[in-house]
Amino acid sequence: MTPTPKFRPDPIITAVPAPIRVLSPATGGLVAEVPDEGAAGVAAAVDAARGAFPEWASRPLAGRVEALKRWRDLVLDDAHGVASTLVRESGKPRHEAEAFEILYLCELIRFAGRAARRALAEETRNPFLFVTKKTRLTRRPLGVVGVIGPWNFPILNNAADAVGPLLMGNTVVLKPSEVTPLTSLRLCDLWVKAGNPPDVFRVVTGRGEAGAELVERADGIMFTGSVATGRKVAARAGERLIPCVTELGGKSPFVVLAGADLERAAEAAAWSSFIHSGQVCIRTERIYVEERVADRFEALLVERVRALRPLVPNGSAAGISDLGAVTFARQLDTLERQIADATGKGARVAVGETHRQTRPGNFFSPTVLLGATHDMEVMREETFGPLVPVMRVKDAEEALRLSNDSHLGLNASVFGPREKAEAFARRLQSGQASVNDALVSYFVVEAPLGGWKASGLGVRHGVESLRQWTRTEGITVGRPMLAPLERFVARKLAFPYDPRFLAVIRRASRLLYRRGLAEKLRAPRDRD
Ligand code: NDP
Repeated sequence: MTPTPKFRPDPIITAVPAPIRVLSPATGGLVAEVPDEGAAGVAAAVDAARGAFPEWASRPLAGRVEALKRWRDLVLDDAHGVASTLVRESGKPRHEAEAFEILYLCELIRFAGRAARRALAEETRNPFLFVTKKTRLTRRPLGVVGVIGPWNFPILNNAADAVGPLLMGNTVVLKPSEVTPLTSLRLCDLWVKAGNPPDVFRVVTGRGEAGAELVERADGIMFTGSVATGRKVAARAGERLIPCVTELGGKSPFVVLAGADLERAAEAAAWSSFIHSGQVCIRTERIYVEERVADRFEALLVERVRALRPLVPNGSAAGISDLGAVTFARQLDTLERQIADATGKGARVAVGETHRQTRPGNFFSPTVLLGATHDMEVMREETFGPLVPVMRVKDAEEALRLSNDSHLGLNASVFGPREKAEAFARRLQSGQASVNDALVSYFVVEAPLGGWKASGLGVRHGVESLRQWTRTEGITVGRPMLAPLERFVARKLAFPYDPRFLAVIRRASRLLYRRGLAEKLRAPRDRD
């Protein structure tokens, strides 16, 4: 057994009672206890991170990239141990821990390490009006970025969210979910073991109040979690006027159009619905299938879901399995409520007759509901568990209308003839969409992912996400060759105002904008 990760002894920590008990979702047993460092722990960590900021921010980018690569290498060397910790606290299959979470961290460091150069590169803007000037845009880090993570992806939506802010020159304090804090602690230990400054990347364990305190103290916030908490975080960040990126819930539609490869669609639907037992914000939450191909698609989907191999709940999750436990016990009630509501309104359980299981741990049979309609809660509210409803639609237009009939808009999948499916995807109200595939768009770290509607603000991934962790300063300077003209214009614009110059401006304004001379004069080097 891999030893449980150590946490740093700290007088503030030991003074706080009521430790957090991390329970195994697969066995119900105690995995470890970690301290609730509370508001005081957050304050201490932010102070330390602020102290480390000037040195980290002043390092050349190459130095920061090297630090992240050293960390990545140690994570890879310790991949078995990291994955074991992750499996024990989250209940997900080892395959998902290694193939998705650890791989994702490595890929993100590769991409962001290169894109950081572009994100931080100084740019020059040439003003049209003030030809004697040019503006240099510089980007500088915010300071201490607070990352608040959820329980479903202990690497992907926790430590990995520190990568962008760190590369941009910020220091980071991470508050993982109290449900799954151990992987973050282990990764933080590896950061230090890699020879990196401990206060540049700190992990604080605590409950919701610790998260709230981080919002009070940090200079920018990356939050992943529920819509309800995300609203509170964004509201407070708004009051404090600090940048805040939120990735919240999803109700991602999966659409099967006539002409789709139904075998592939069923395979992708099963995977994207039940990956990590459905506890994924971008997972398939509802399926729409065109009436003409529904019989065949539903049969294929049912067949695939019946074949899923459940986790052997021995606590170590050593055996091969497709489906893990439900990490957060509260989700089991949501699943039962949504099934009862749907069957009460006419849906049929095609797979998953036993639902909640009586063995120890949070196990729930993967469940497929057929005959769903849009008045059912399962089609409208986030499920976040191993349950997926299938609704038949008359045609693509109905599928589109219903897909967009949601207060959320994070991700989507469309299966069908390529051009038709792509045209469909362009009309979706969604931050991302995959054509003839599912979920892969998340791993395209080059492309920004940001939720529409109540699914969030700002983006993760892409060069755009990196720039969110910087402030821009525009420094306007004169062109030495045009210094005499610059002095003349400056004198004319300043006190005492000259009525003759105002008359020139009036005439010039009409000529440039009313008569369109400005459009004709726009030099090729101009960048608006
Ligand atoms: P929460 O929003 O409750 O928690 C997310 C994080 O915020 C946790 O670290 C939590 O700490 C912390 N937190 C709680 N209260 C506050 C507060 N007032 N201020 C600041 N931080 C706070 O989400 P859940 O953990 O309950 O996750 C459930 C839901 O989150 C899912 O149903 C899904 O909608 C959404 N989700 C979305 C994800 C995405 O990637 N978009 C990923 C995971 C979840 P603690 O856990 O210690 O209370």
